Amino acid sequence: MRTGQTHLESLRDGRQVYIEGEQVNDVTLHPAFRNAVASAAHLYDYQHNPQNREKMTFRSPATDAAVSRAWQLPASYADLVQRREALTAWAETHVGFMGRSPDHVASCISGMYMGIDVFESFDPKRAEAVRGYYEYARDNDLFLTYVIINPQSDRAKNPHQQTDALLTAHLCDQDSRGITVKGAKMLGTSAVMANEVFVTCIQPLMPGDESYALSFVVPINAKGLKLLSRKSYEQAAESRFDYPLANQFDENDAVLYFDEVQVPWERVFIAGNVAMCQKQFYMTPAHVYQNYQAQIRLEVKLRFLAGVGRMIATANGIENMPQVREILGQLAAEAAMVDGLVHAMEVKGSQQGSYFVPDANTLYAAQVLTQQLYPKVIQTLRELAGGSLIMLPSSIRDLIDPEIADYSLRVQRSPTLDPEQRVKFFKMAWDAVGSEFASRHTQYEMFYSGAAFVTKGHSNRTYDWDRATGMVTRLLEGYNLEDEKRKWLSTNSTRNFTYST
Ligand SMILES: Cc1cc2nc3c(=O)[nH]c(=O)nc-3n(C[C@H](O)[C@H](O)[C@H](O)COP(=O)(O)OP(=O)(O)OC[C@H]3O[C@@H](n4cnc5c(N)ncnc54)[C@H](O)[C@@H]3O)c2cc1C
Repeated sequence: MRTGQTHLESLRDGRQVYIEGEQVNDVTLHPAFRNAVASAAHLYDYQHNPQNREKMTFRSPATDAAVSRAWQLPASYADLVQRREALTAWAETHVGFMGRSPDHVASCISGMYMGIDVFESFDPKRAEAVRGYYEYARDNDLFLTYVIINPQSDRAKNPHQQTDALLTAHLCDQDSRGITVKGAKMLGTSAVMANEVFVTCIQPLMPGDESYALSFVVPINAKGLKLLSRKSYEQAAESRFDYPLANQFDENDAVLYFDEVQVPWERVFIAGNVAMCQKQFYMTPAHVYQNYQAQIRLEVKLRFLAGVGRMIATANGIENMPQVREILGQLAAEAAMVDGLVHAMEVKGSQQGSYFVPDANTLYAAQVLTQQLYPKVIQTLRELAGGSLIMLPSSIRDLIDPEIADYSLRVQRSPTLDPEQRVKFFKMAWDAVGSEFASRHTQYEMFYSGAAFVTKGHSNRTYDWDRATGMVTRLLEGYNLEDEKRKWLSTNSTRNFTYST
Protein backbone atom coordinates (compact mmCIF):
# COMPACT_ATOMS: atom_id res chain seq x y z
CA MET A 1 0.00 0.00 0.00
CA ARG A 2 1.45 3.33 -1.01
CA THR A 3 1.78 6.49 1.04
CA GLY A 4 1.38 10.03 -0.24
CA GLN A 5 5.14 10.28 -0.52
CA THR A 6 5.54 7.09 -2.55
CA HIS A 7 2.74 8.27 -4.83
CA LEU A 8 4.49 11.62 -5.40
CA GLU A 9 7.73 9.78 -6.18
CA SER A 10 5.93 7.53 -8.64
CA LEU A 11 4.90 10.60 -10.67
CA ARG A 12 8.49 11.72 -11.26
CA ASP A 13 8.81 9.32 -14.15
CA GLY A 14 9.56 11.39 -17.25
CA ARG A 15 5.91 11.71 -18.32
CA GLN A 16 5.32 14.13 -21.18
CA VAL A 17 2.87 16.78 -20.02
CA TYR A 18 2.39 20.04 -21.94
CA ILE A 19 0.79 23.25 -20.71
CA GLU A 20 1.00 26.91 -21.71
CA GLY A 21 3.49 26.20 -24.45
CA GLU A 22 5.92 24.27 -22.27
CA GLN A 23 6.77 20.73 -21.28
CA VAL A 24 6.42 20.10 -17.56
CA ASN A 25 9.44 18.69 -15.74
CA ASP A 26 7.78 17.50 -12.57
CA VAL A 27 4.00 17.58 -12.02
CA THR A 28 4.49 17.35 -8.26
CA LEU A 29 6.22 20.74 -8.25
CA HIS A 30 4.66 22.60 -11.16
CA PRO A 31 2.26 25.41 -10.08
CA ALA A 32 -0.39 24.15 -12.51
CA PHE A 33 -0.70 20.77 -10.79
CA ARG A 34 1.19 20.51 -7.49
CA ASN A 35 -1.69 21.15 -5.06
CA ALA A 36 -4.12 18.79 -6.80
CA VAL A 37 -1.35 16.19 -6.94
CA ALA A 38 -0.85 16.71 -3.18
CA SER A 39 -4.62 16.22 -2.62
CA ALA A 40 -4.39 12.91 -4.48
CA ALA A 41 -1.33 11.96 -2.41
CA HIS A 42 -3.35 12.79 0.70
CA LEU A 43 -5.83 10.05 -0.27
CA TYR A 44 -3.01 7.53 0.04
CA ASP A 45 -1.89 8.95 3.39
CA TYR A 46 -5.47 8.81 4.62
CA GLN A 47 -5.74 5.16 3.63
CA HIS A 48 -2.33 4.37 5.08
CA ASN A 49 -3.11 5.98 8.44
CA PRO A 50 -3.43 3.12 11.00
CA GLN A 51 -6.61 4.71 12.33
CA ASN A 52 -8.25 4.33 8.91
CA ARG A 53 -6.66 1.04 7.87
CA GLU A 54 -9.59 -1.19 8.85
CA LYS A 55 -12.12 1.03 7.09
CA MET A 56 -10.05 1.64 3.94
CA THR A 57 -8.37 -1.68 3.21
CA PHE A 58 -8.87 -5.42 2.82
CA ARG A 59 -6.43 -8.33 2.52
CA SER A 60 -5.08 -9.11 -0.92
CA PRO A 61 -5.85 -12.76 -1.66
CA ALA A 62 -2.48 -12.98 -3.45
CA THR A 63 -0.13 -11.38 -0.91
CA ASP A 64 -2.22 -11.10 2.27
CA ALA A 65 -1.10 -7.46 2.44
CA ALA A 66 -3.59 -4.67 3.18
CA VAL A 67 -4.80 -3.17 -0.12
CA SER A 68 -7.31 -0.47 -0.98
CA ARG A 69 -11.00 -1.37 -0.77
CA ALA A 70 -11.38 0.34 -4.16
CA TRP A 71 -10.17 -3.02 -5.53
CA GLN A 72 -12.42 -5.15 -3.34
CA LEU A 73 -14.79 -7.53 -5.14
CA PRO A 74 -17.92 -7.57 -2.96
CA ALA A 75 -19.32 -11.03 -2.46
CA SER A 76 -22.35 -9.87 -0.49
CA TYR A 77 -24.51 -6.86 0.32
CA ALA A 78 -22.51 -6.35 3.53
CA ASP A 79 -19.22 -6.25 1.55
CA LEU A 80 -20.69 -3.72 -0.83
CA VAL A 81 -21.76 -1.42 2.00
CA GLN A 82 -18.36 -1.76 3.69
CA ARG A 83 -16.64 -0.85 0.42
CA ARG A 84 -18.97 2.13 -0.10
CA GLU A 85 -18.09 3.45 3.36
CA ALA A 86 -14.42 3.52 2.34
CA LEU A 87 -15.21 5.33 -0.92
CA THR A 88 -17.37 7.85 0.96
CA ALA A 89 -14.55 8.53 3.42
CA TRP A 90 -12.15 9.19 0.53
CA ALA A 91 -14.64 11.50 -1.22
CA GLU A 92 -15.15 13.49 1.99
CA THR A 93 -11.44 14.45 1.97
CA HIS A 94 -12.04 16.42 -1.26
CA VAL A 95 -15.74 17.13 -0.59
CA GLY A 96 -16.58 15.26 -3.80
CA PHE A 97 -14.63 17.54 -6.14
CA MET A 98 -12.13 14.98 -7.44
CA GLY A 99 -14.14 12.96 -9.92
CA ARG A 100 -11.32 10.76 -11.10
CA SER A 101 -9.91 9.79 -7.70
CA PRO A 102 -8.18 6.37 -7.84
CA ASP A 103 -11.36 4.50 -6.81
CA HIS A 104 -13.18 5.36 -10.07
CA VAL A 105 -11.17 3.36 -12.60
CA ALA A 106 -10.31 0.76 -9.93
CA SER A 107 -14.06 0.14 -9.77
CA CYS A 108 -14.21 -0.28 -13.55
CA ILE A 109 -11.28 -2.72 -13.75
CA SER A 110 -12.64 -4.64 -10.76
CA GLY A 111 -15.99 -4.90 -12.57
CA MET A 112 -14.22 -6.28 -15.65
CA TYR A 113 -12.50 -8.85 -13.46
CA MET A 114 -15.85 -9.83 -11.93
CA GLY A 115 -17.05 -10.49 -15.48
CA ILE A 116 -13.92 -12.41 -16.52
CA ASP A 117 -16.13 -15.12 -18.12
CA VAL A 118 -17.02 -12.65 -20.85
CA PHE A 119 -13.31 -12.27 -21.67
CA GLU A 120 -12.75 -16.03 -21.35
CA SER A 121 -15.34 -16.76 -24.01
CA PHE A 122 -13.89 -14.01 -26.22
CA ASP A 123 -10.21 -15.02 -25.96
CA PRO A 124 -8.54 -16.80 -23.00
CA LYS A 125 -5.27 -14.90 -23.60
CA ARG A 126 -7.01 -11.55 -23.30
CA ALA A 127 -8.82 -12.82 -20.20
CA GLU A 128 -5.42 -13.68 -18.75
CA ALA A 129 -4.30 -10.08 -19.44
CA VAL A 130 -7.33 -8.66 -17.59
CA ARG A 131 -6.82 -11.01 -14.66
CA GLY A 132 -3.09 -10.29 -14.43
CA TYR A 133 -3.59 -6.55 -14.67
CA TYR A 134 -6.31 -6.42 -12.01
CA GLU A 135 -4.02 -8.24 -9.57
CA TYR A 136 -1.00 -6.11 -10.49
CA ALA A 137 -2.89 -2.80 -10.11
CA ARG A 138 -4.52 -3.91 -6.85
CA ASP A 139 -1.31 -5.14 -5.24
CA ASN A 140 0.67 -2.07 -6.35
CA ASP A 141 -2.11 0.33 -5.32
CA LEU A 142 -2.00 2.06 -8.71
CA PHE A 143 -3.80 5.28 -9.51
CA LEU A 144 -5.48 4.73 -12.88
CA THR A 145 -7.42 7.05 -15.11
CA TYR A 146 -9.20 6.22 -18.36
CA VAL A 147 -9.82 7.63 -21.82
CA ILE A 148 -12.85 5.90 -23.29
CA ILE A 149 -14.25 8.58 -25.63
CA ASN A 150 -12.97 9.50 -29.08
CA PRO A 151 -12.12 13.12 -29.87
CA GLN A 152 -14.92 15.25 -31.25
CA SER A 153 -14.71 16.02 -34.92
CA ASP A 154 -17.88 15.03 -36.79
CA ARG A 155 -20.15 13.26 -34.29
CA ALA A 156 -22.47 12.18 -37.14
CA LYS A 157 -19.72 9.85 -38.36
CA ASN A 158 -17.86 6.89 -36.89
CA PRO A 159 -14.03 7.02 -36.57
CA HIS A 160 -13.23 5.34 -39.89
CA GLN A 161 -15.62 7.68 -41.72
CA GLN A 162 -13.98 10.90 -40.48
CA THR A 163 -12.19 13.14 -42.97
CA ASP A 164 -9.06 12.50 -40.91
CA ALA A 165 -9.43 8.80 -40.18
CA LEU A 166 -6.09 8.86 -38.35
CA LEU A 167 -7.28 11.36 -35.71
CA THR A 168 -8.72 8.78 -33.29
CA ALA A 169 -6.38 6.43 -31.43
CA HIS A 170 -6.08 3.32 -33.60
CA LEU A 171 -4.04 0.21 -34.10
CA CYS A 172 -1.27 1.11 -36.52
CA ASP A 173 0.89 -2.00 -36.14
CA GLN A 174 1.11 -5.30 -34.31
CA ASP A 175 3.65 -8.09 -33.95
CA SER A 176 4.47 -10.92 -31.59
CA ARG A 177 5.36 -8.46 -28.79
CA GLY A 178 2.22 -6.35 -28.86
CA ILE A 179 0.38 -3.54 -30.60
CA THR A 180 1.33 0.01 -31.63
CA VAL A 181 -1.23 2.76 -31.21
CA LYS A 182 -1.41 6.17 -32.86
CA GLY A 183 -3.94 9.00 -32.53
CA ALA A 184 -5.94 10.86 -29.88
CA LYS A 185 -8.49 10.25 -27.15
CA MET A 186 -10.77 13.05 -26.02
CA LEU A 187 -10.01 13.70 -22.34
CA GLY A 188 -8.24 12.05 -19.47
CA THR A 189 -9.23 13.59 -16.15
CA SER A 190 -6.46 13.26 -13.55
CA ALA A 191 -4.13 11.78 -16.19
CA VAL A 192 -1.31 14.08 -15.07
CA MET A 193 -1.42 12.57 -11.57
CA ALA A 194 -2.23 8.94 -12.42
CA ASN A 195 0.21 6.08 -12.83
CA GLU A 196 -1.42 4.38 -15.78
CA VAL A 197 -4.27 4.92 -18.21
CA PHE A 198 -6.96 2.50 -19.39
CA VAL A 199 -7.63 3.22 -23.05
CA THR A 200 -10.68 1.94 -24.91
CA CYS A 201 -13.87 3.01 -26.70
CA ILE A 202 -17.26 2.97 -24.98
CA GLN A 203 -18.98 4.68 -27.90
CA PRO A 204 -20.73 2.23 -30.25
CA LEU A 205 -18.45 1.18 -33.09
CA MET A 206 -19.48 -0.39 -36.41
CA PRO A 207 -17.96 -2.71 -39.00
CA GLY A 208 -15.07 -0.77 -40.54
CA ASP A 209 -14.04 0.58 -37.11
CA GLU A 210 -12.00 -2.53 -36.17
CA SER A 211 -8.70 -0.68 -35.83
CA TYR A 212 -10.31 1.64 -33.23
CA ALA A 213 -11.73 -1.30 -31.26
CA LEU A 214 -8.97 -1.41 -28.67
CA SER A 215 -8.81 -1.93 -24.94
CA PHE A 216 -5.47 -1.73 -23.16
CA VAL A 217 -3.51 -0.11 -20.35
CA VAL A 218 -0.22 1.75 -20.48
CA PRO A 219 1.86 3.69 -17.97
CA ILE A 220 1.45 7.46 -18.28
CA ASN A 221 5.18 7.72 -18.98
CA ALA A 222 4.96 5.32 -21.96
CA LYS A 223 7.19 6.42 -24.80
CA GLY A 224 5.19 8.50 -27.27
CA LEU A 225 2.27 9.31 -24.93
CA LYS A 226 1.65 13.09 -24.80
CA LEU A 227 -0.68 14.77 -22.30
CA LEU A 228 -2.03 18.06 -23.66
CA SER A 229 -3.42 19.83 -20.61
CA ARG A 230 -6.24 22.34 -20.54
CA LYS A 231 -5.72 25.61 -18.69
CA SER A 232 -4.92 25.10 -15.01
CA TYR A 233 -7.44 26.71 -12.66
CA GLU A 234 -5.07 25.86 -9.82
CA GLN A 235 -2.33 28.02 -11.32
CA ALA A 236 -4.76 30.94 -11.64
CA ALA A 237 -5.92 30.37 -8.04
CA GLU A 238 -2.78 31.70 -6.43
CA SER A 239 -4.16 31.95 -2.90
CA ARG A 240 -6.16 29.27 -1.14
CA PHE A 241 -8.01 32.07 0.68
CA ASP A 242 -9.38 33.35 -2.65
CA TYR A 243 -10.08 30.02 -4.42
CA PRO A 244 -9.93 27.22 -1.84
CA LEU A 245 -11.40 24.54 -4.12
CA ALA A 246 -9.56 25.38 -7.35
CA ASN A 247 -6.39 25.76 -5.35
CA GLN A 248 -6.59 22.22 -3.93
CA PHE A 249 -8.79 20.05 -6.11
CA ASP A 250 -8.27 21.03 -9.75
CA GLU A 251 -7.74 17.45 -10.88
CA ASN A 252 -6.98 18.52 -14.46
CA ASP A 253 -8.20 17.21 -17.81
CA ALA A 254 -5.90 16.53 -20.76
CA VAL A 255 -6.25 15.37 -24.33
CA LEU A 256 -4.12 12.26 -24.76
CA TYR A 257 -2.13 11.79 -27.94
CA PHE A 258 -0.57 8.41 -28.64
CA ASP A 259 2.38 8.91 -30.96
CA GLU A 260 3.08 5.30 -31.88
CA VAL A 261 2.85 3.99 -28.33
CA GLN A 262 3.79 0.33 -27.96
CA VAL A 263 1.66 -1.87 -25.73
CA PRO A 264 2.77 -5.41 -24.82
CA TRP A 265 0.17 -8.18 -25.30
CA GLU A 266 -0.08 -8.78 -21.56
CA ARG A 267 -1.65 -5.32 -21.27
CA VAL A 268 -4.01 -5.69 -24.24
CA PHE A 269 -7.61 -6.69 -23.39
CA ILE A 270 -9.16 -6.24 -26.85
CA ALA A 271 -7.65 -5.62 -30.27
CA GLY A 272 -9.91 -5.36 -33.30
CA ASN A 273 -13.23 -6.65 -31.95
CA VAL A 274 -15.97 -4.06 -32.22
CA ALA A 275 -18.65 -5.95 -30.26
CA MET A 276 -16.31 -6.81 -27.41
CA CYS A 277 -15.65 -3.11 -26.71
CA GLN A 278 -19.29 -2.76 -25.65
CA LYS A 279 -19.44 -6.15 -23.93
CA GLN A 280 -16.49 -5.33 -21.63
CA PHE A 281 -18.63 -2.57 -20.07
CA TYR A 282 -22.18 -3.88 -20.30
CA MET A 283 -21.89 -7.67 -20.11
CA THR A 284 -19.61 -7.40 -17.07
CA PRO A 285 -20.30 -5.32 -13.93
CA ALA A 286 -17.65 -2.73 -15.07
CA HIS A 287 -19.99 0.04 -16.18
CA VAL A 288 -22.22 -0.37 -13.15
CA TYR A 289 -19.32 -0.40 -10.68
CA GLN A 290 -17.52 2.63 -12.13
CA ASN A 291 -20.69 4.73 -12.15
CA TYR A 292 -21.85 3.51 -8.76
CA GLN A 293 -18.55 4.91 -7.42
CA ALA A 294 -19.34 8.20 -9.20
CA GLN A 295 -22.75 8.43 -7.51
CA ILE A 296 -21.19 7.75 -4.09
CA ARG A 297 -18.80 10.67 -4.72
CA LEU A 298 -21.64 12.87 -6.00
CA GLU A 299 -23.71 12.14 -2.91
CA VAL A 300 -20.83 13.57 -0.83
CA LYS A 301 -20.54 16.61 -3.10
CA LEU A 302 -24.28 17.37 -2.95
CA ARG A 303 -24.22 17.05 0.83
CA PHE A 304 -21.38 19.60 0.85
CA LEU A 305 -23.27 21.93 -1.52
CA ALA A 306 -26.40 21.64 0.61
CA GLY A 307 -24.21 22.73 3.54
CA VAL A 308 -22.99 25.70 1.50
CA GLY A 309 -26.62 26.65 0.73
CA ARG A 310 -27.62 26.49 4.35
CA MET A 311 -24.61 28.55 5.44
CA ILE A 312 -25.32 31.18 2.78
CA ALA A 313 -28.77 31.54 4.29
CA THR A 314 -27.57 31.83 7.89
CA ALA A 315 -24.73 34.17 6.93
CA ASN A 316 -27.24 36.55 5.38
CA GLY A 317 -29.91 36.12 8.06
CA ILE A 318 -32.54 34.80 5.64
CA GLU A 319 -32.83 31.18 6.82
CA ASN A 320 -36.12 31.64 8.69
CA MET A 321 -37.98 33.44 5.94
CA PRO A 322 -40.76 31.09 4.78
CA GLN A 323 -39.73 31.23 1.11
CA VAL A 324 -36.09 30.54 2.01
CA ARG A 325 -37.09 27.63 4.23
CA GLU A 326 -38.87 26.20 1.22
CA ILE A 327 -35.77 26.60 -0.94
CA LEU A 328 -33.65 24.91 1.73
CA GLY A 329 -36.23 22.14 2.07
CA GLN A 330 -36.05 21.51 -1.67
CA LEU A 331 -32.22 21.49 -1.55
CA ALA A 332 -32.27 19.06 1.37
CA ALA A 333 -34.71 16.80 -0.48
CA GLU A 334 -32.48 16.76 -3.55
CA ALA A 335 -29.36 15.86 -1.55
CA ALA A 336 -31.34 13.19 0.34
CA MET A 337 -32.68 11.76 -2.94
CA VAL A 338 -29.16 10.99 -4.20
CA ASP A 339 -28.22 9.48 -0.84
CA GLY A 340 -31.36 7.35 -1.10
CA LEU A 341 -30.56 6.29 -4.66
CA VAL A 342 -27.10 5.07 -3.64
CA HIS A 343 -28.66 2.98 -0.87
CA ALA A 344 -31.32 1.72 -3.28
CA MET A 345 -28.64 0.54 -5.74
CA GLU A 346 -27.24 -1.59 -2.92
CA VAL A 347 -30.52 -2.87 -1.49
CA LYS A 348 -31.79 -3.77 -4.97
CA GLY A 349 -28.41 -5.24 -5.94
CA SER A 350 -28.11 -8.87 -6.94
CA GLN A 351 -25.78 -11.82 -6.73
CA GLN A 352 -24.06 -12.36 -10.08
CA GLY A 353 -21.98 -15.51 -9.73
CA SER A 354 -19.61 -14.96 -6.81
CA TYR A 355 -20.16 -11.22 -6.70
CA PHE A 356 -22.77 -8.80 -5.42
CA VAL A 357 -23.55 -6.10 -7.99
CA PRO A 358 -25.48 -2.83 -7.47
CA ASP A 359 -28.78 -2.52 -9.30
CA ALA A 360 -28.12 -1.21 -12.82
CA ASN A 361 -31.47 0.42 -13.45
CA THR A 362 -31.39 2.40 -10.20
CA LEU A 363 -27.87 3.52 -11.10
CA TYR A 364 -28.95 4.70 -14.55
CA ALA A 365 -31.97 6.48 -13.06
CA ALA A 366 -29.56 8.28 -10.71
CA GLN A 367 -27.30 9.25 -13.63
CA VAL A 368 -30.14 10.73 -15.65
CA LEU A 369 -31.56 12.63 -12.69
CA THR A 370 -28.26 13.93 -11.30
CA GLN A 371 -27.08 15.24 -14.68
CA GLN A 372 -30.13 17.50 -14.52
CA LEU A 373 -29.93 18.07 -10.78
CA TYR A 374 -26.39 19.42 -10.55
CA PRO A 375 -26.93 22.63 -12.56
CA LYS A 376 -30.23 23.09 -10.69
CA VAL A 377 -28.47 22.88 -7.30
CA ILE A 378 -25.90 25.43 -8.50
CA GLN A 379 -28.75 27.68 -9.62
CA THR A 380 -30.35 27.35 -6.16
CA LEU A 381 -27.14 28.44 -4.45
CA ARG A 382 -26.93 31.46 -6.75
CA GLU A 383 -30.52 32.31 -5.92
CA LEU A 384 -29.86 32.09 -2.19
CA ALA A 385 -26.66 34.12 -2.35
CA GLY A 386 -27.65 37.13 -4.42
CA GLY A 387 -24.74 39.58 -4.62
CA SER A 388 -22.84 38.14 -1.66
CA LEU A 389 -20.77 36.02 -4.08
CA ILE A 390 -19.65 39.25 -5.72
CA MET A 391 -19.54 41.77 -2.86
CA LEU A 392 -16.04 40.63 -1.97
CA PRO A 393 -12.51 42.01 -1.86
CA SER A 394 -10.73 41.45 -5.17
CA SER A 395 -8.11 39.19 -3.62
CA ILE A 396 -6.14 38.46 -0.47
CA ARG A 397 -3.98 41.46 -1.41
CA ASP A 398 -6.81 43.78 -0.32
CA LEU A 399 -6.46 42.32 3.18
CA ILE A 400 -2.71 42.84 3.45
CA ASP A 401 -2.47 46.63 3.35
CA PRO A 402 -3.97 47.76 6.72
CA GLU A 403 -5.84 50.76 5.29
CA ILE A 404 -7.42 48.87 2.37
CA ALA A 405 -8.10 45.91 4.69
CA ASP A 406 -9.93 48.20 7.10
CA TYR A 407 -12.27 49.47 4.39
CA SER A 408 -12.62 46.02 2.82
CA LEU A 409 -13.64 44.35 6.06
CA ARG A 410 -15.79 47.09 7.55
CA VAL A 411 -18.35 46.58 4.73
CA GLN A 412 -18.65 42.85 5.48
CA ARG A 413 -21.37 42.23 8.04
CA SER A 414 -23.29 39.09 8.93
CA PRO A 415 -25.40 37.87 11.87
CA THR A 416 -23.27 34.72 12.16
CA LEU A 417 -19.82 35.48 10.72
CA ASP A 418 -17.26 38.11 11.57
CA PRO A 419 -16.00 40.14 8.58
CA GLU A 420 -12.99 37.93 7.91
CA GLN A 421 -15.07 34.74 8.18
CA ARG A 422 -17.68 36.24 5.87
CA VAL A 423 -15.13 36.97 3.16
CA LYS A 424 -13.56 33.54 3.64
CA PHE A 425 -16.89 31.73 3.37
CA PHE A 426 -18.27 33.59 0.37
CA LYS A 427 -15.03 33.26 -1.56
CA MET A 428 -15.27 29.51 -1.05
CA ALA A 429 -18.96 29.56 -2.06
CA TRP A 430 -18.05 31.40 -5.29
CA ASP A 431 -15.43 28.75 -6.06
CA ALA A 432 -18.12 26.07 -5.68
CA VAL A 433 -20.72 27.94 -7.71
CA GLY A 434 -19.37 30.53 -10.10
CA SER A 435 -15.59 30.46 -10.68
CA GLU A 436 -14.07 28.90 -13.78
CA PHE A 437 -13.33 25.84 -11.65
CA ALA A 438 -17.01 25.68 -10.59
CA SER A 439 -18.13 26.05 -14.18
CA ARG A 440 -15.92 23.14 -15.24
CA HIS A 441 -17.60 21.10 -12.48
CA THR A 442 -21.05 21.77 -13.90
CA GLN A 443 -19.78 20.60 -17.30
CA TYR A 444 -18.21 17.57 -15.64
CA GLU A 445 -21.34 16.47 -13.80
CA MET A 446 -23.42 16.94 -16.95
CA PHE A 447 -21.08 14.92 -19.18
CA TYR A 448 -18.63 12.66 -17.38
CA SER A 449 -20.82 9.61 -17.82
CA GLY A 450 -21.96 10.47 -21.33
CA ALA A 451 -24.34 13.06 -22.76
CA ALA A 452 -27.98 12.95 -21.61
CA PHE A 453 -29.13 10.94 -24.63
CA VAL A 454 -26.63 8.23 -23.63
CA THR A 455 -27.63 7.94 -19.96
CA LYS A 456 -31.33 8.08 -20.88
CA GLY A 457 -30.66 5.26 -23.33
CA HIS A 458 -29.28 3.13 -20.47
CA SER A 459 -32.26 3.98 -18.28
CA ASN A 460 -34.65 3.01 -21.08
CA ARG A 461 -32.69 -0.18 -21.78
CA THR A 462 -32.65 -1.45 -18.19
CA TYR A 463 -36.05 -0.38 -16.84
CA ASP A 464 -38.46 -3.22 -16.12
CA TRP A 465 -40.86 -2.24 -18.89
CA ASP A 466 -42.57 -5.68 -18.80
CA ARG A 467 -43.63 -5.09 -15.22
CA ALA A 468 -44.83 -1.58 -16.05
CA THR A 469 -46.66 -2.46 -19.24
CA GLY A 470 -47.93 -5.68 -17.61
CA MET A 471 -49.92 -3.57 -15.15
CA VAL A 472 -51.39 -1.58 -18.00
CA THR A 473 -52.26 -4.77 -19.89
CA ARG A 474 -53.88 -6.36 -16.83
CA LEU A 475 -55.98 -3.27 -16.26
CA LEU A 476 -57.07 -3.26 -19.90
CA GLU A 477 -57.89 -6.99 -19.70
CA GLY A 478 -60.36 -6.27 -16.89
CA TYR A 479 -63.03 -5.08 -19.34
CA ASN A 480 -64.00 -5.41 -23.00
CA LEU A 481 -66.14 -3.64 -25.52
CA GLU A 482 -68.88 -6.31 -25.84
CA ASP A 483 -69.51 -6.51 -22.07
CA GLU A 484 -69.45 -2.77 -21.70
CA LYS A 485 -71.84 -2.30 -24.62
CA ARG A 486 -74.28 -4.76 -23.01
CA LYS A 487 -74.01 -3.02 -19.64
CA TRP A 488 -74.43 0.36 -21.22
CA LEU A 489 -77.48 -0.68 -23.22
CA SER A 490 -79.15 -2.29 -20.24
CA THR A 491 -78.50 0.77 -18.02
CA ASN A 492 -79.56 3.11 -20.77
CA SER A 493 -82.79 1.27 -21.61
CA THR A 494 -83.70 1.13 -17.87
CA ARG A 495 -83.15 4.86 -17.69
CA ASN A 496 -85.28 5.39 -20.81
CA PHE A 497 -87.96 3.21 -19.30
CA THR A 498 -87.79 5.19 -16.05
CA TYR A 499 -87.99 8.47 -17.92
CA SER A 500 -90.93 7.30 -20.10
CA THR A 501 -92.96 6.22 -17.08
C1 LIG B 1 -14.89 17.91 -17.50
C2 LIG B 1 -14.90 16.67 -18.30
C3 LIG B 1 -14.06 15.62 -17.93
C4 LIG B 1 -14.03 14.45 -18.69
N1 LIG B 1 -13.21 13.43 -18.32
C5 LIG B 1 -13.15 12.31 -19.06
C6 LIG B 1 -12.28 11.23 -18.71
O1 LIG B 1 -11.59 11.27 -17.71
N2 LIG B 1 -12.24 10.15 -19.54
C7 LIG B 1 -13.01 10.07 -20.66
O2 LIG B 1 -12.93 9.06 -21.36
N3 LIG B 1 -13.85 11.05 -21.00
C8 LIG B 1 -13.93 12.18 -20.25
N4 LIG B 1 -14.77 13.19 -20.60
C9 LIG B 1 -15.49 13.07 -21.85
C10 LIG B 1 -16.93 12.70 -21.61
O3 LIG B 1 -17.02 11.30 -21.43
C11 LIG B 1 -17.73 13.17 -22.83
O4 LIG B 1 -17.80 14.58 -22.72
C12 LIG B 1 -19.10 12.57 -22.88
O5 LIG B 1 -19.04 11.19 -23.13
C13 LIG B 1 -19.95 13.22 -23.96
O6 LIG B 1 -19.29 13.17 -25.19
P1 LIG B 1 -18.98 14.51 -26.00
O7 LIG B 1 -18.38 15.50 -25.06
O8 LIG B 1 -18.24 14.16 -27.20
O9 LIG B 1 -20.40 15.08 -26.36
P2 LIG B 1 -21.30 14.64 -27.59
O10 LIG B 1 -21.49 13.17 -27.60
O11 LIG B 1 -20.77 15.25 -28.84
O12 LIG B 1 -22.65 15.30 -27.19
C14 LIG B 1 -22.79 16.74 -27.07
C15 LIG B 1 -24.23 17.06 -27.42
O13 LIG B 1 -24.44 16.82 -28.81
C16 LIG B 1 -25.74 16.23 -29.01
N5 LIG B 1 -25.53 14.89 -29.58
C17 LIG B 1 -24.34 14.36 -29.97
N6 LIG B 1 -24.51 13.13 -30.48
C18 LIG B 1 -25.82 12.87 -30.42
C19 LIG B 1 -26.61 11.74 -30.80
N7 LIG B 1 -26.08 10.64 -31.33
N8 LIG B 1 -27.94 11.80 -30.57
C20 LIG B 1 -28.50 12.90 -30.03
N9 LIG B 1 -27.80 14.01 -29.66
C21 LIG B 1 -26.48 13.98 -29.85
C22 LIG B 1 -26.41 16.21 -27.64
O14 LIG B 1 -27.13 17.42 -27.48
C23 LIG B 1 -25.23 16.20 -26.68
O15 LIG B 1 -25.54 16.73 -25.40
C24 LIG B 1 -14.85 14.34 -19.83
C25 LIG B 1 -15.70 15.40 -20.18
C26 LIG B 1 -15.74 16.54 -19.43
C27 LIG B 1 -16.68 17.65 -19.83
